[in-house]
Amino acid sequence: MSVFEAELKNGRFVISECPRCQKTIWPPSEFCTHCFGNTVWRTISEPGTLVEYSSKDGKTFCIAEFEDSIRVMGSLDAKTPSVGQKVKISSCGFDKSPQFTFRPE
Ligand SMILES: [Zn+2]
Repeated sequence: MSVFEAELKNGRFVISECPRCQKTIWPPSEFCTHCFGNTVWRTISEPGTLVEYSSKDGKTFCIAEFEDSIRVMGSLDAKTPSVGQKVKISSCGFDKSPQFTFRPE
């Protein structure tokens, strides 16, 4: 299990960053895609922005964007979602793939 997956299981959404290139590495990796050096892990900055959503059978799924570049899918806990609104992570986990639940800020 990668650092990314293990941290998600602990309820933390972390991303990797290369200290040498000062670039965020996404999808997360223990190695920089530019210089192949080791990356460091840090918690993502919140809130994110709701990019799009769709509702089906009473459940809402969405894509949220963090730090203007990192897009993740998850479920959305909002009665009246609107594109562009700020969202925070209410829970996250890992079960074969990353699991996120977002709520309005
Ligand atoms: Zn690098």
